[in-house]
Amino acid sequence: MINTDLSNSNIAETIHKQRDFFQTDKTKDIAFRIEQLKTLKQLIVDNKLAIIQALHADLHKPEFEAYATEISTVKEIDYAIKHLKNWVKPKKAAVSFDFFSYSAKIYPEPRGVALIIGAWNYPFNLIISPLVGAIAAGNCAIIKPSELASHTSNLLAKLISKYFVPEYIAVLEGGVETNKKILAEKFDHIFFTGSTAVGKVVMAAAAEHLTPVTLELGGKSPCIVDTDINLEHTLRRITWGKFINAGQTCIAPDYILVNQKIKQDFIDGLKKCLNEFYGDHPEKNPDYARIISQKHFERLANLLKSGEIIIGGETNPSERYIAPTVIDNVSVEDSVMQEEIFGPILPVIAYTNITEAIALINSKPKPLALYLFSQNKQLQKRVLQETSSGGVCFNDTIMQFGVSSLPFGGVGDSGIGTYHGKASFDTFSHYKSVLQNSFWLDLNWRYAPYKGKLSLL
Ligand code: NAD
Repeated sequence: MINTDLSNSNIAETIHKQRDFFQTDKTKDIAFRIEQLKTLKQLIVDNKLAIIQALHADLHKPEFEAYATEISTVKEIDYAIKHLKNWVKPKKAAVSFDFFSYSAKIYPEPRGVALIIGAWNYPFNLIISPLVGAIAAGNCAIIKPSELASHTSNLLAKLISKYFVPEYIAVLEGGVETNKKILAEKFDHIFFTGSTAVGKVVMAAAAEHLTPVTLELGGKSPCIVDTDINLEHTLRRITWGKFINAGQTCIAPDYILVNQKIKQDFIDGLKKCLNEFYGDHPEKNPDYARIISQKHFERLANLLKSGEIIIGGETNPSERYIAPTVIDNVSVEDSVMQEEIFGPILPVIAYTNITEAIALINSKPKPLALYLFSQNKQLQKRVLQETSSGGVCFNDTIMQFGVSSLPFGGVGDSGIGTYHGKASFDTFSHYKSVLQNSFWLDLNWRYAPYKGKLSLL
């Protein structure tokens, strides 16, 4: 259960204590930051089992998926520990000849007290991963996990308070009302993961205090399947990326745009692949997750009314189970093509010419991810040039999320800003420009009287 009645004074007091702690400059010390990152890693290592259990209770998340997509955040911690000493170094900036007596440097400094608001689909990763950036950059942090993944939220609150002091890192649990109270306070940075609609609420609240925001939002990530592919590998990679976590992944392929010439082979292959992954009864298969809440289950059940179900379609409300489902004959007006699906339903649309596929993608808000399965370099180049998305992955799905050297984030409706690896450090840092002059020379050209000096500019 989540404590939903956090009072304004509880919240204000937590922030106040963190401000005081930040003022001590302790968090700016590099050794301290590395120590805290190691503590965070220890928290995960010590409590793997409890984390897996909480994720199972919230989403029926299979143990393998819990390791691969949530506990694996440890890699982000290792990456930050490895690179931090380099990231914090002031970087020299070049100066032009007329500034020859100056030196210029750029110093990263922590922003202060950061707020991290998480979503429920990867409820551990989406809190811990930004937290790595906040710690590495020298901030204090307040965490608000999603109330919908209540077991993980409770566990995060328990573990964070055990391993960290609240004046440095604290968890505030609660639902929408609590979040509204939290957002009314002033922070130095807000990192939000969630829907585009709530992203707007967060940005409006942040604007009141001129607080910078990172918004990691969602959208309909298209997946184009051309003919120049290894079909078997393509099918496995798409099936995995779409149905992992029962489709509740922000960068899951939302819909397929397949070349008409291979559409039937693609659909036949999907059926076979789903059977290989989840068997005849996915409901009984421990490797298949559940929908997070009744509300989300009902929303998805409604989407099943679009087009014609050709694979799956079975549901069980009491279990919040929706079978891996493939839909044919959908029109762009159907609700399944109007909103982000965020569940195990995959519409397949055929195209005869790539121009059509690109036009369909460009008729929608900019997605978080775009997938293209093709070895054709010309086609890859064309799709890159003619579409805009947070990121692109050729010939695979989801894997871009795991590459720490690639900044991860959206564009337009799918988000503002990036994180992972160095990008997380940058997100939680202010880059302070510092210019230094010397005293060995003081040229007269810029001082009044200006008469006759215009030609010197
Ligand atoms: P959500 O926007 O409903 O909720 C996110 C957070 O906002 C929760 O902590 C919730 O308590 C809070 N919240 C909800 N309504 C609020 C309101 N009116 N005022 C203030 N706070 C409010 O999102 P969700 O359902 O948890 O997550 C699903 C969405 O998140 C999808 O759109 C998905 O694509 C996106 N997502 C994006 C990423 C990414 O990395 N870009 C990752 C995961 C999920």
